[in-house]
Amino acid sequence: MGISREQLSGWLAAYDKDNITIGVIASHSALQILHGARQEGFKTLGIAVGDNRRRFYSAFPGADPDEWLMLDDYRELLEQAEWLRKRNVIIIPHGSLVEYLGPENFRNLQVPTFGNREILRWESSREAQRQWLLNGGCTLPSVVTDPHQIDGPVIVKYAGAKGGRGYFIARDYRDFRRNVNLDEDFMIQEYVLGCRYYLHFFFDPTAEDGFQVQGKGSHAGKRLGRLELMSMDRRDESNVDEFYKLGSLRDLREMTLEPTFVVTGNQPVVLRESLLPRAFEMAEGTVAESFELEEGARGMIGAFCLETIVTDKLEFKVFEISARIVAGSNPFVGGSSYSDINEPNMSTGRRIARSIGKAIEKGKIEDLLS
Ligand code: AMP
Repeated sequence: MGISREQLSGWLAAYDKDNITIGVIASHSALQILHGARQEGFKTLGIAVGDNRRRFYSAFPGADPDEWLMLDDYRELLEQAEWLRKRNVIIIPHGSLVEYLGPENFRNLQVPTFGNREILRWESSREAQRQWLLNGGCTLPSVVTDPHQIDGPVIVKYAGAKGGRGYFIARDYRDFRRNVNLDEDFMIQEYVLGCRYYLHFFFDPTAEDGFQVQGKGSHAGKRLGRLELMSMDRRDESNVDEFYKLGSLRDLREMTLEPTFVVTGNQPVVLRESLLPRAFEMAEGTVAESFELEEGARGMIGAFCLETIVTDKLEFKVFEISARIVAGSNPFVGGSSYSDINEPNMSTGRRIARSIGKAIEKGKIEDLLS
C-alpha cells in the first residue's frame, strides 16, 4: 500500500513548519541523528521500549532527546501516528526501525518519514536490487545459479539473514551440501577477495549546486539533485576478521570451525583518491537509475550506502545497497575526511537535519519525505 503523495501533503499542510521535531528510534545511529538534529536547532524525540534505553541516553547529554515516547513494543508506534503528527514529528528511519516494525509496517507508518520508503521494495529483494545496481552501472559479484557449478570460493546468503548471520563460505559442491539449509531461500555469490569499503553518500534532490546527478531514461537531460560523499567505513565482523589467527583454512576445518559475519563495530577508512571518480560514477548511476525503477518513481532521497569490495585489480564489486543512514556513519559524529572538506563537523545525521531545515526554507520539504 504505502503512503500516497496526497496523504503526505495532507499531513504536512497541518504541520507547524517552524516547530518541527525530529523523531528516531533510540538505537542504531540515533545518537548521531539526535545530536545532528540538535546542532541544526530542531527539537528531538526519542522512541524506545524499556526504561534502560532512556537511562542510557542520559549518558550522552549532547544527544539526549527533549522528549521520549515510551512503548511496550515497537509495533505500538503504528498506533501513535496521530500523536506524532500533532507534535509535527518527522521520523528519521534507520535499519533498526525497519527491522523492528517489519518492512510492510514501516511502509505504512502514518507519519512523515525522511527518505523514500518505496525504495525498500527494490532493496529487500536480492534479485530486484541486483538489477537496479547493474542498470546503474555498478559491477557486482557474479551469481552461481547451479550449486554443481561451484568451482571456487562462494558465499551463500539466506534471504532474511540479518547482519550476515547464517552466511557460509563453500569451496565446492560438497562443501555447499554439507552446510546448506535447503528450506530457506538463498543466493550463491562469488566470494570476492579484497578490501571491504562501505561508501556513505547523501543525495539531496532539493539542492541545485555541487555535483549534480544527471538523469537518464525518462529523466535524460535533467539535473536530479546534489550528490555528496559523506564518509566511509569498514565493518568489524566477528569472527571472520580474526579467523586468520587460528592458522590455515585446513587447520580451521580440522577444528570444525566456519567463519561468521556478525557485525560488531565500525572503523573509519579513506579510499585511494584515484578510486573516488569510479565511486561517484557508481553512486550517480545508482541514483539516476532509482528514478527509473517504475513509472513515477520518486527515486533515492537522502543517505544511502554502497557496500563494496575493492579487488587487487582496483575494481569495485558492489555486494549490497542500503537506502538510508547506515551505522557505519557513526564514527563520524564530528565529520569525516570527506565531509570536513565541505564543512567541518557535518555528520550524516546532521546533514539529514540540515537538508530538512533548508527544504523547509525553500518550501520544498515534501520533496524529502514519504
Ligand atoms: P551483506 O549481508 O550482504 O551485507 O554481507 C555481510 C558480510 O558478508 C559482508 O560485510 C562481507 O564481509 C561478506 N560478504 C558479502 N558478500 C560477499 C562477497 N560476494 N564476497 C566476499 N564477502 C562477502
